[in-house]
Amino acid sequence: MADRHIVIIGSGPAGLTAALYSARANLKPLLVEGIEAGGQLMLTTMVENWPGFRDGIMGPDLMADMRAQAERFGTEVLEGNITETNLRERPFALDLRDGRRITTEALVIATGASARWLEIGSDRRLSGHGVSTCATCDGYFFKGKPIAVVGGGDSALEEAIYLTKFASKVTLIHRRDTLRASKIMQDKALANAKIDFIWDSEVAEVKDVEKGEVMGVVVRNLKTGTLRDLPLDGLFIAIGHTPNTSLFEGQLDLDPNGYIVTTEGTRTNVPGVFAAGDVQDHVYRQAVTAAGSGCMAAMDAERYLEGLP
Ligand code: NAP
Repeated sequence: MADRHIVIIGSGPAGLTAALYSARANLKPLLVEGIEAGGQLMLTTMVENWPGFRDGIMGPDLMADMRAQAERFGTEVLEGNITETNLRERPFALDLRDGRRITTEALVIATGASARWLEIGSDRRLSGHGVSTCATCDGYFFKGKPIAVVGGGDSALEEAIYLTKFASKVTLIHRRDTLRASKIMQDKALANAKIDFIWDSEVAEVKDVEKGEVMGVVVRNLKTGTLRDLPLDGLFIAIGHTPNTSLFEGQLDLDPNGYIVTTEGTRTNVPGVFAAGDVQDHVYRQAVTAAGSGCMAAMDAERYLEGLP
């Protein structure tokens, strides 16, 4: 006998929507929050593309409301982190960091994706000392100071625009000469007098690891190989995300980039295990699509549970 009919791992839009739907289906879901409670929207300011909010809504407010709504229908939220899973036996077993074990008949994985780093060493070593992956968390510390943002997608441009509120100047460093971001974001960023662009370039090194704070970066032009020093007080990295799937390696089918492979809606290769949101979607990656797939996962799980003997 399992402890639970359904457990949901992850508390972003996918997890909370799966919780809302399975709570309303009387499945009394347990939702395990995970390390980054609330997911990526907790690191955002104004969300302008969540339908129904004509004037936008703050990311953390949206997540607080989603959580309260899921709880109102009977979702139990556990502030914890799962360190190990066993999906080979039934019921599935989930081990929490504090030593507890939870067993469940169905599982929805909505663990999302985490910010990527440059893999040059010095960026990670200066993390929290001038290097950040979250403009909304750390922008305030750079009032009147020059900073840079790495990346050419929507996140990089959104962060660059947001950071102009604080910084004296924002330099956007991108490895190509065309931006990946949507046209509307490009237009906003290109029109912003406080944003400078360095094209076809990468950050070769963040200085100064010895001093333990960001003094600047060495920028390498990828076409010419030329190196140049750019004095800065802060560096924001916005180069995409890695799916949080290490708990499931060797148990679930993952694609070459580590995303969970789903078929027929949200089914994984293990019957009874479903995946929703950014952990299985490297194409759309929107809060609204994550929420939509959370709803699908709850409905798929409900159907699976109905079919159990
Ligand atoms: P993304 O679209 O994957 O863009 C990542 C950017 O980082 C790309 O420009 C990429 O360069 C660059 N990059 C990747 N690895 C790099 C490396 N090792 N060194 C240097 N640069 C590197 O990621 P994202 O901007 O986080 O956006 C993810 C998704 O969320 C997208 O679908 C986006 O539309 C969505 N989003 C939407 C909004 C909004 O609508 N308001 C806001 C944020 C994000 P290349 O271009 O050369 O590949």
